[in-house]
Amino acid sequence: MSNQPFQQRKIIHVDMDCFYAAVEMRDNPELRDKAIAVGGSADRRGVIATCNYKAREFGVRSAMATARALRLCPDLVLVKGRMSVYQEVSRQIRAVFAEYTDKIEPLSLDEAYLDVSECPQFQGSATLIAKDIRRRILEEIGLTASAGIAPVKFLAKVASDLNKPNGQAVIPPAKVAEFVETLPLRKIPGVGKVTAAKLADLGMHTCADAQARSLEELVAHFGKFGGALYERCRGIDKRSVQASRTRKSIGVETTFASDLAGVVDAKQHFDRLLEQLEGRYQRCGNPVIARIGVKLKFEDFQQTTMEQKHAAIDAELLWSLLEGAWERGEGKAVRLIGLQVGLDKPGSAKQLDLGL
Ligand SMILES: [Mg+2]
Repeated sequence: MSNQPFQQRKIIHVDMDCFYAAVEMRDNPELRDKAIAVGGSADRRGVIATCNYKAREFGVRSAMATARALRLCPDLVLVKGRMSVYQEVSRQIRAVFAEYTDKIEPLSLDEAYLDVSECPQFQGSATLIAKDIRRRILEEIGLTASAGIAPVKFLAKVASDLNKPNGQAVIPPAKVAEFVETLPLRKIPGVGKVTAAKLADLGMHTCADAQARSLEELVAHFGKFGGALYERCRGIDKRSVQASRTRKSIGVETTFASDLAGVVDAKQHFDRLLEQLEGRYQRCGNPVIARIGVKLKFEDFQQTTMEQKHAAIDAELLWSLLEGAWERGEGKAVRLIGLQVGLDKPGSAKQLDLGL
């Protein structure tokens, strides 16, 4: 074990370039010059999982409704996803990572954090290690990857986007302070559209803007996330790469632009979240489900979760849990809904987690 302080680790975030679409183009040369999208069925209400760069030129994006994507790009070729192939390719990519470090934290099939602080190769140069990993993925697996290198996790993730596709960027420890100065807050992982809009309303656009606010002020506006924000805007991220962690849950959530008064208002959000949850569950490789549940955050930032033992993602059960959790608010409006599946073995016999 190293005793380096958390701020001086060498973290690489590797992110495959439009992964599913890239696998399809690799395996079917006829698709290479076409705009393609994976996952969206044209006939029913489908959404696109990934598209290639040619499709992106038309404005097509991940998670876009297929119908809209086809309006933007009428020649878009829809390709049925092959999840088992993506899972196998993902295993091959992780085998490459494992030759450099055993501290690998996958975020999804096509994305992972690597802590290479103790990797002896290339005299410990994380930049050269990242280059070599990308070279091997290209030569051995036939796909391009992008990478970000930084002393902390979230900056490595921000950096992997800077020279995408097929590129990499480094934020060395001495440059962190300067880099975050001008970094837009919406680029921080975890800052979604709603939070970004709220930050903008409060006059905060860049990390420098947020640095000027006190911890108390950020917590007052954003609850627990305010604490993370206080650190991130200074380039601080104390999370280590969680190598041995087996994933305990898969969840999706959404914060509303304006709070929802009643559970009937939640139906369409619920349907969309359910679809997202199913997608994410699949991308995690369909692991065995132990429990399913819901999370609500009320207008006063109080949070409640309700879950039940169940072996599948069950829309009806999730909706009834949502109704039950909603009642706990006793009339309070709801600002966030989350849906989740628990993957660990159920530890106790209790059916409902009643912790408010
Ligand atoms: Mg990716």
